[in-house]
Amino acid sequence: MNLLHELWEALIYFLFPPRCPVCREIVDERYQICSKCAGKILHVDFSNEKFHLIDRVLRVTKYRGGTRDLLRKLKFDNNLRVVPALKKILDDVDRREEILSLLNGIDFVVPVPLHQSRLAERGFNQTEEIFAEWFAKKNLPLKNILIRTVETPRLYSFGKSEREKILSGAFTAVEELDLSGKKILLVDDIFTTGTTCRECAKVLKSLGAEKVFVLAFASDFGKKFDD
Ligand SMILES: [Zn+2]
Repeated sequence: MNLLHELWEALIYFLFPPRCPVCREIVDERYQICSKCAGKILHVDFSNEKFHLIDRVLRVTKYRGGTRDLLRKLKFDNNLRVVPALKKILDDVDRREEILSLLNGIDFVVPVPLHQSRLAERGFNQTEEIFAEWFAKKNLPLKNILIRTVETPRLYSFGKSEREKILSGAFTAVEELDLSGKKILLVDDIFTTGTTCRECAKVLKSLGAEKVFVLAFASDFGKKFDD
C-alpha cells in the first residue's frame, strides 16, 4: 500500500511538478515561490514613516510583480487558488525577527473589514483568507469587531487626500467595546497610503486601545521603507 502510494506520488510529481506560482519555474514544494521571485518580493520590514494613530507598520512583501499579480487574482478575479501560495509566503517568514517582535504582546488581531455589499459580491474577505489560518496556528484570535459602514469605490486610483475624504468615518465598532489597555494588530492585504488603517485605528483608539499596530501582506510604499 505504501509503495503504491509512493509510486503514485512520484508519478504525480513527474506529471505535475510543483511550480512557482509567479513565474512557473519548477520548485521543490507545492505553492513555493522560487528563490528568484522571492528575492524580488519578500521584504519583511517596518515602515520608517510615522502614521498618525498607528504605532508601527510592518509589511511582508513589496506590492510588485509576483505579489501584485497574486493579490489581483484574489481580489479582482475572486480566484482563491492563489491563497495557498500567499499562505506559504507567510509560513516562510514565520520566524523572522520583525514578525516575532510585532506579534509579541498582541492581545488580538482585527482584519480590515469589507463593506457588506463588497463581501457579498466577492464572497470572502481576502485579508482573512490570507491570514486567518496563520494566526490560528499562533493562537492569536481574529476578531471582527469593526464594520465598514460606508461603501467606498475601489481606492487604487485615488490619491491620499481623496482617500482621506472618502474614508473619513467609514468604519465603526460592532458594539460599544472597552478596549482599554489592549494591544491590537490590524491586518490588511495591501497598505498604500495608510488611510484605511488609520481610520480603523481611530475607532480602536477611541474605544481605549493602547496600541494599534499594522501588518500588511504587501505594500508599495517603496521609498518610505528601507529599500
Ligand atoms: Zn518564480
